[in-house]
Amino acid sequence: MTSSTAQFFADGQFRTADDAEPVVEAATGEPLGAGAVVSESDLDAAVAAARRALPDWRASSPEHRAGILNAMADALKARARETSELVTRENGMPIRLSRGANGAFPALLLRYYAQLVTEVPIEEIRPSVTGHTIVRREAVGVVGAIVPWNYPQALAAMKVAPALAAGCTMVLKASPETALDALVFAEAAVEAGLPPGVLNVVSGGPAVGARLVSHPGVDKVAFTGSTATGRLVAETCGRLMRPVTLELGGKSAAIILDDADLDATIRGLRNASFVNNGQTCHLSSRILAPKSRYEEIVDAVAALADSMAVGDPLDPGTEIGPMVSSRQRDRVLGYIDVGKNSGARLVAGGSVPEDQPRGWFVAPTVFADVDNTDRLAREEVFGPVLTISGYDSDDEAIALANDTEFGLAGTVWSTDVDRATTVARAVHTGTIGVNDYALDVRAPFGGVKASGMGRELGPEGLEAYRTLKSIYRTGPA
Ligand code: NAD
Repeated sequence: MTSSTAQFFADGQFRTADDAEPVVEAATGEPLGAGAVVSESDLDAAVAAARRALPDWRASSPEHRAGILNAMADALKARARETSELVTRENGMPIRLSRGANGAFPALLLRYYAQLVTEVPIEEIRPSVTGHTIVRREAVGVVGAIVPWNYPQALAAMKVAPALAAGCTMVLKASPETALDALVFAEAAVEAGLPPGVLNVVSGGPAVGARLVSHPGVDKVAFTGSTATGRLVAETCGRLMRPVTLELGGKSAAIILDDADLDATIRGLRNASFVNNGQTCHLSSRILAPKSRYEEIVDAVAALADSMAVGDPLDPGTEIGPMVSSRQRDRVLGYIDVGKNSGARLVAGGSVPEDQPRGWFVAPTVFADVDNTDRLAREEVFGPVLTISGYDSDDEAIALANDTEFGLAGTVWSTDVDRATTVARAVHTGTIGVNDYALDVRAPFGGVKASGMGRELGPEGLEAYRTLKSIYRTGPA
């Protein structure tokens, strides 16, 4: 498809791409706009602009950068409502979530890193026996940042804010499904007076992503996406000796302890297990239930799924909107068939809701009696599909939670917070919640095992964009 309207942003200017892909409204299947698929030369131009802009931006003071980031935050905040609605149309995220995740969060994060970068030292002096060393933290260089479609503004901000604060320049590549909202960062950059080339925004599919990862002008890759793609990115970066952070998939456990307040737990699982239509990396999608309360929990989780308000994602009452695309809907339905063909018991959902003939909807679905060796318990579905498995002791629950290739998140539910925290400490994961889960901008977020490498958010998220240099000098400091 060729379009005269598909835009990307390079060297401070909006440009028209030669190639484009339609962006489709998830709830209706109707076209929403044209997303740029940048050519090799367009991508080269974006990377070249980032390289040209690097020396001045890297050398600028943290206070100068903070001022521009705060102005970008103002610009994003001014269009937050519009942006959150655009993303909801693109990917089906319920608007009540999108207002925070795509509307408010990016501005908040830009302000957080603007403040932080003015507080952390760039250099420190360490005396040694023969002299002393200046330990210096420098911007790592040009960043190639790749994001998925599920929380496009939030995930982009988790890279843009710390990278620009640290003094890096960057090329941000959005997913084809959410190519339109990514340009809001470019508009905010122009409005804030960000120098041309410091932030460049492109879009396109796997070929564009792969080219960015291996581009000779890129110094560091920051990737969020599936584990399968993450492995390809890691291979390339390994060969090139290129630093990379990888935020990948998950199959996290919700461990319900036998003393849990079931009503409160079910209220919490509404968010922890179903947020964003199940299209969330840190979802507690594997429920582990004590056998002493097993049927009570199965009934309550099934009733929860049946009670979720499914419908138009732009309606503030909606809790479950559509999947992002027909491809994603078919993938989720494929996993539901896997569950139906296993020994598991379908206790809620299991199909496309009859009252949603348009768009890419899937009913909230729950399978009980799922063996932890079943595919449904092991692979990331990325949709509103939960599994329930029984256990006898806290130790067995921990072993089941850890018996997975992933290690991104999880939750523990109990009336005894200390007991739950002991269990949380024993789960091999990057982040975990007690009696709910919420992303904390001040705390590192990321995974272990096949869920990724490195961390975003918090001061650790800034360090991911700074590299260490030691300058040794003779004599006393
Ligand atoms: P995906 O891996 O298919 O795509 C992610 C991004 O990578 C897209 O921009 C895509 O165009 C690009 N891409 C595809 N092939 C590429 C290649 N060979 N080289 C470079 N880039 C390439 O993932 P998706 O389906 O868009 O997103 C869903 C996945 O993202 C889920 O697995 C989810 O768990 C994960 N995710 C992880 C986090 C986290 O913080 N850990 C957050 C959100 C989503």
